[in-house]
Amino acid sequence: MRVALLPGDGIGPEVVAEARRVLDAVTGGALAFDEALIGGAAIDATGTALPDDTTDACRRADAVLLGAVGGPKWDDPLSPVRPEQGLLAIRRALGLFANLRPVAPFPALADASPLKPERLAGVDLLVVRELTGGIYFGVKGTYGQPGRERARDVCSYTTEEIERIVRVGAEMARARRGRLTSVDKANVLETSRLWRRVATRVVAAEFPDVSLEHVLVDACAMHLVTNPARFDVIVTENMFGDILTDEAAVLAGSIGVLPSASLGAPNGVGQTRMGLYEPIHGSAPDLAGRGVANPVGTILSAALLLRHSLGLEREARLVERAVAEALADGARTADLGGSLSTREMTDAVMGRLEVRT
Ligand code: ATP
Ligand code: MG
Repeated sequence: MRVALLPGDGIGPEVVAEARRVLDAVTGGALAFDEALIGGAAIDATGTALPDDTTDACRRADAVLLGAVGGPKWDDPLSPVRPEQGLLAIRRALGLFANLRPVAPFPALADASPLKPERLAGVDLLVVRELTGGIYFGVKGTYGQPGRERARDVCSYTTEEIERIVRVGAEMARARRGRLTSVDKANVLETSRLWRRVATRVVAAEFPDVSLEHVLVDACAMHLVTNPARFDVIVTENMFGDILTDEAAVLAGSIGVLPSASLGAPNGVGQTRMGLYEPIHGSAPDLAGRGVANPVGTILSAALLLRHSLGLEREARLVERAVAEALADGARTADLGGSLSTREMTDAVMGRLEVRT
């Protein structure tokens, strides 16, 4: 099995190198790695944020692990080439349409969460956000005389786009606690009415073992802070997902520990899919090159990679358990109030892996 590594910019190379060590250890060296350029690093070397060699390396791989892209060096808004273009282009090239953000706060980090401990207890949810449709990609424009303009963004979804994202949500629910919450605004939006009909049909026909509920997005936003433990898997459209994933991320307390995945079509390895995995944090230019960034978000992204693209569920769980144990035992980088370096934090995780493997 082959993994493409895209370290990118800022702290990206530092955290990806550590996650690679974890992947190596937990699979006993069974994975082949291909490293390639993306983002600002690629612009400096080749003049483009996504060189063809990088796209090829990703297409050859079963999964992609990415650090982060961007930084002050490439921040000129007038420049025609920008680091983020690399990320958008590779997502498109790989046909990725489902963004996954699991949120299972670590009890050891409960102090950092804005929620009271009793509300945080038992929270283990996964938000599945549609990535390619909706208001972000509909017809848009600004019309009329200066000073009296009208602007519009059209929200549109096809049946097929809804079917494929609902299937991802239902597959995830089936592998977890069997509960799927489909979030929409069906009391107001036509796209949401179609969404609700399609979700109901797909789950009834293909996932009779999954229980489906429909929740309006405003109510969902409220439940996420008042009773987040009620959720298992949430599936929703692009913009609702953008907002709800940020809200859910805050529950965990720290930006440095959260992973994400972007999945595409089934890749032929069992029930798995092509995917790109990255921490939710950015390139953190203030920390770059200092060896102090928290590697946990990237290590947990590697665990998602093992699970969703390589079908290595046991190895994924070993990594997740090792992270939880390291944190429970007090291992902390500076962002969590500790003093471990990026490498030492990874060593703390790997020490708990070796006990088991
Ligand atoms: P984006 O690329 O999304 O625009 P950003 O530059 O606005 O990101 P991030 O890079 O995500 O923001 O992080 C903001 C701040 O949070 C960083 O400057 C850094 O201080 C802290 N931070 C982010 N990631 C980590 C990490 N892995 N470890 C420690 N601190 C982090
Ligand atoms: Mg930013």
